[in-house]
Amino acid sequence: MSRIRGTATAPEELLRKALWAAGFRYNRDTRIGRIRPDVVLPKHHIAIFLDGCFWHGCPEHYVRPRSGGGFWARKLVENVERDIAQTARLEAEGWRVLRFWEHAVFTELAGVVDVVSAATSQPADAEPDWRVWKVEAVDGELAITNGRSQPELRS
Ligand SMILES: [Zn+2]
Repeated sequence: MSRIRGTATAPEELLRKALWAAGFRYNRDTRIGRIRPDVVLPKHHIAIFLDGCFWHGCPEHYVRPRSGGGFWARKLVENVERDIAQTARLEAEGWRVLRFWEHAVFTELAGVVDVVSAATSQPADAEPDWRVWKVEAVDGELAITNGRSQPELRS
């Protein structure tokens, strides 16, 4: 018996559909300068990023690879540094930046939409929802301890 399989839907597509259903309108082309958020709500000046659990160090799903640890740790730090820099730049240009772990789109989509909804009614200078709290390598060779400030590298 054959199974009817749904087409694999990318998390950003799932989020766009849910936001559209909730009445939000997004831009098809999501570029803001050289930065490419996953969803842009131009009317509310909101840029949304879905951070991949592995590539961006989700505290629930990031598992350090058994080999090539140094490479992966550096890659992770680079990614998180880029997340921080992009967020800061967009905020400086007057965008509100929302970041969610990719898994949240699959496990709590309604909650993600609620956060976006809430952001549209918050003043523009409200504290943004910054999701990269802490990244730590297992052996402590690299650590990022505070997403709001510069990443801290320990040796
Ligand atoms: Zn995750």
